[in-house]
Amino acid sequence: MIAQKYKKMLEGKSVIRELFDFASKRGAEIGYENVFDYSLGNPSVPVPKEFTQTMIDMLSTKSSSQLHGYSPSLGIPSVRKKIAESLNERFQMDYTENHIFMTTGAAGAIAHAVRSVTVPGDEVLTFAPFFPEYHPYIDLTGAKLKVVPPNKENFQINFTLLEEMLTDKVAAILINSPNNPSGVVYSTETIKKLAELLSKKEKEYGHEIFIISDEPYREILFEGVDAPYVSKYYDNTLSCYSYSKSLSLPGERIGYIAVNPACVDSDSIVSMCGQISRGIGHNCPPSIIQLAVADVVDLTSDMSIYERNMNLIYDKLVELGFTCIKPGGTFYIFPKALEEDAKAFCQKALKYDLILVPGDSFGCPGYFRMAYCIDTEKVERSLPALEKFVKSEYGK
Ligand code: PLP
Repeated sequence: MIAQKYKKMLEGKSVIRELFDFASKRGAEIGYENVFDYSLGNPSVPVPKEFTQTMIDMLSTKSSSQLHGYSPSLGIPSVRKKIAESLNERFQMDYTENHIFMTTGAAGAIAHAVRSVTVPGDEVLTFAPFFPEYHPYIDLTGAKLKVVPPNKENFQINFTLLEEMLTDKVAAILINSPNNPSGVVYSTETIKKLAELLSKKEKEYGHEIFIISDEPYREILFEGVDAPYVSKYYDNTLSCYSYSKSLSLPGERIGYIAVNPACVDSDSIVSMCGQISRGIGHNCPPSIIQLAVADVVDLTSDMSIYERNMNLIYDKLVELGFTCIKPGGTFYIFPKALEEDAKAFCQKALKYDLILVPGDSFGCPGYFRMAYCIDTEKVERSLPALEKFVKSEYGK
């Protein structure tokens, strides 16, 4: 019999993908350079030249089986070791290679992390605004995603509502800082407060409550921002990382889980992930890309471009009267729309060839997301269009 669960999912369309398709069609008509496409979080800055050189060198020096053979199911040991050492150096942790599990991006990391610390029926809490893919990531494991409403004052955690929702059924909290879509970075104060609350509730309920920390934007941070390494503040933390954004490598599908050495069952979780892989077929990430990222483990693409884009857009939004929290990182900004219905707002923006994404699917109606991972020159050209849109449609 056909799997109704997946068939039903076809009914729910991705708004972001639909907008991206619209942008592509419009681009064919007027030239893509004239479409101000702020829909997709696809990094626009190139990979570091060292990464390209590493790939070239490896292709000419390493054997076919080293480059193209199966990776061990937990990842290549030398790569895991290098990542552990880099994290220890940067964040004063005590990881060994046995705490690192290589995955296909952050998506693969979350798929394994959730399965390793929940059983079907458990609840996983996340905070609005949140990445819409969390629904399939979590719900298809048999656990249930519950969303804590946003703290619209600053998009930090709404602790009053969190406490209300943090029942005995909650097995894990999924956090994402720097955040897609708001660009907000959780402060040390927020993370400490979260850790305190979870420790208290662990004692009260007599079971662990894990933090799954989704960190694909960890390296995209703007000047002067307080960006704590979450795992430092809470032992039962699984950090899910990806090179998709930091090295501009989303197509290569590479990332990892780092299990805090002080986490419950930390000696088993990585091996358990190897077993999870066997079930979900997300096993053995590509060898060549593991070796390449290990070679440039402390490098990133040129992130300064995102900060420049953010400043240009933020200043313009403020000038035009938008309510908007200044991002501390990522390549997203999440202003309040100029009418209650953000879908209608984004629909009107299309007339000006501005592709904006309504906040509804991020669990925050009334707001919209701009993914400014596009050329700065295009950002500059989009600002008069933004101004024209606002003035013509809202008389501002
Ligand atoms: N988590 C968040 C918050 C994201 O924005 C994304 C991708 O955009 C992912 C996870 C998935 O990342 P990856 O491409 O590394 O699987």
